[in-house]
Amino acid sequence: MRCHSRPQKKGANKKERLELPVTIDAMAYKRFHQKDTAFCQAISEAFPEGRQALELLGSSSADLGQRVMDKAISDAGWYMDSLIAGGAPTTSPDIVAEVRNNEVSSSPYDFSSAEEASLYIKKTARFLGADLVGITPYDERWTYASFYNPQKGTSLPPDLPFTPKSVIVMAFEVNFGAIVGKGYSQMAITGASLRRFITNIGYRAFAAVNDVALSVPYGIAAGLGEVARNGLLVTYEYGPRVRIGKVFTELDLACDKPMSFGVRHFCETCMRCADACPGNAISTEKKPSFDVHNECNNPGVAKWAIDAKKCLLAWGKAKSDCATCITSCPLQQNRFLVPSFERQGQPPHDRTAPRHDAENGQAFRVRQLLRQKSRDQLLEIITEP
Ligand code: SF4
Ligand code: SF4
Repeated sequence: MRCHSRPQKKGANKKERLELPVTIDAMAYKRFHQKDTAFCQAISEAFPEGRQALELLGSSSADLGQRVMDKAISDAGWYMDSLIAGGAPTTSPDIVAEVRNNEVSSSPYDFSSAEEASLYIKKTARFLGADLVGITPYDERWTYASFYNPQKGTSLPPDLPFTPKSVIVMAFEVNFGAIVGKGYSQMAITGASLRRFITNIGYRAFAAVNDVALSVPYGIAAGLGEVARNGLLVTYEYGPRVRIGKVFTELDLACDKPMSFGVRHFCETCMRCADACPGNAISTEKKPSFDVHNECNNPGVAKWAIDAKKCLLAWGKAKSDCATCITSCPLQQNRFLVPSFERQGQPPHDRTAPRHDAENGQAFRVRQLLRQKSRDQLLEIITEP
């Protein structure tokens, strides 16, 4: 059973897959330690230049053309995430423990089937704010090998309150200007609320934002999209303009299948995000490979590995959470050519801001090539080998 929040679009080469549409070398793959994310490395001072970059994120970027209004909107977007989830992407599982530990009803609701349970869960997730919902079996490979508490600077064993059976994976749309904080806030609210719903009907569950487990593999496994050159989950509906939240539960749920619609093939020739990346952090190799840059990449998965350290340093220079790899991607939606603030009736964005310099300057060549094509037309010309 498939039950995404929006009707399936016609004309795309969507294919259900029995396996993840990603090559994994089971001998080389190792579970990833949360402390090895670039953010945790920077916070822990294992990556001092990254620490300086993080400090610059909070500083004024008026010298780079960012207006007070831009900063205020971005900060407001993060607000609920900072209250509920302790501030992703460095959230620690024990920080949100209080949200997770509400009581489980002693009278479990008796679903007639796993399909019925999935239908209820998906409808409720959408009601609570998820834009896309998929379900996949729990897969220990994606759980961090150890958790990390950035406040205490300590690693923790990857102990879960129970072994989950199913993972509800939710995607939250972010706007065309990719002010991602609002996506994090929404997924913190929806995740905690969906967890509450599941415990109210008598089953254990816990919610996660960027903590507990890798989100992109779960997004792929739950059929929400494919991983792209920019290292992000590209969904059919919103391209890379999503954040991904997860709710783990002991409920037996009917699961979705991975799906592909040619993103990898398209990325092999597009390279727009790599052209636009101000940190040179995105690979320009034609094909995915098993090459990694440093401890911030886990080995054993064929992909275009992002150099997360270079990325974070670029954030420091821009004094903002860049996101050019989202705003430059042609798979966003039909209106991808129109600057986001203008589209939303907000004041025109200052063109000297780094994100927009990159989008409008370096990627100009690709924009010229693509400007006559809508996103749906682009998807229709994608053909898998
Ligand atoms: S966020 Fe910016 S610097 Fe980082 S990979 Fe994306 S485009 Fe490059
Ligand atoms: S910009 Fe192009 S290469 Fe980069 S993720 Fe999007 S489609 Fe792939």
